[in-house]
Amino acid sequence: MTDAQQASAPIVVSAGSATDVGLRRRINEDSMLARHPMFLVADGMGGHEAGEVASAAALAVFEPLVGLPSVRVEDVVGAIDLARQNVDALAGGAGGGAGTTLTGVVVSQHGGDGYWLVVNLGDSRTYRLAGGALEQISVDHSVVQELVDAGEMTAEEAATAAGRNVITRALGAGSDEDADFWLLPAAQGDRMLVCSDGLSGEVDAATIHEILASVLDPQAAAERLVLQALANGGRDNVTAVVVDAIAVAQHDPMDTLPRAGERDAGAAFDDELDADTVPRKTPRSKPERGERP
Ligand code: MG
Repeated sequence: MTDAQQASAPIVVSAGSATDVGLRRRINEDSMLARHPMFLVADGMGGHEAGEVASAAALAVFEPLVGLPSVRVEDVVGAIDLARQNVDALAGGAGGGAGTTLTGVVVSQHGGDGYWLVVNLGDSRTYRLAGGALEQISVDHSVVQELVDAGEMTAEEAATAAGRNVITRALGAGSDEDADFWLLPAAQGDRMLVCSDGLSGEVDAATIHEILASVLDPQAAAERLVLQALANGGRDNVTAVVVDAIAVAQHDPMDTLPRAGERDAGAAFDDELDADTVPRKTPRSKPERGERP
């Protein structure tokens, strides 16, 4: 986008991205879109290259939004509906099982202020580094996350549990459940990380935090994260997108509510979001599950 478009954006960002097939897989089924105002990662599943096609098809739907100063919640909801149709069509209804996760952060605004709109379906992840703290914003749609929510497993156990790759929501793969959304007030200096499970499953949160906090350039940080995943085994495709807030629009800062009180994930739900999109905290069983090959 032009400098003038950047200047009118509610969040001016600097972003970097990297992806790698890893050391065990033959093809890279991850796809990414990292152009203002969309920073998304999709991790395809289905085997026989169906996953690669599914993740690319899902993200292609968002291309028309590239270059806009910001994107509204309803635009993302509409794009997800279309992406789901496209991925379902690929599956052909014959049990092809093609599907994809989708997560990421979109530059949005509310009342003229810059907001991060975070979206998630599946177990790819979106994190935020702010004020020196790393927070996982997205909540995995996975069987092990449901066990954690039910108090039957700790987060530490979940990180290495057998079956941790079984997800409970996706685009395609027999899933028809909604995405989760979070609308978070942005602040200058925020750093967002969007990644596939090939990163979060291979590199622990402390190391991710250390790299994000120490490698200042977003492109160098994304590459360093991917290299660390390879160094740790590279058992899956790995993708990382790093997005820095260089400047954030704010209406009269003296008029705004204390920002410290708005920092918690989920604390800033916009009233445009309907109740269905609140992250589900209660475990529930579901017959269809997308399972990674
Ligand atoms: Mg993966």
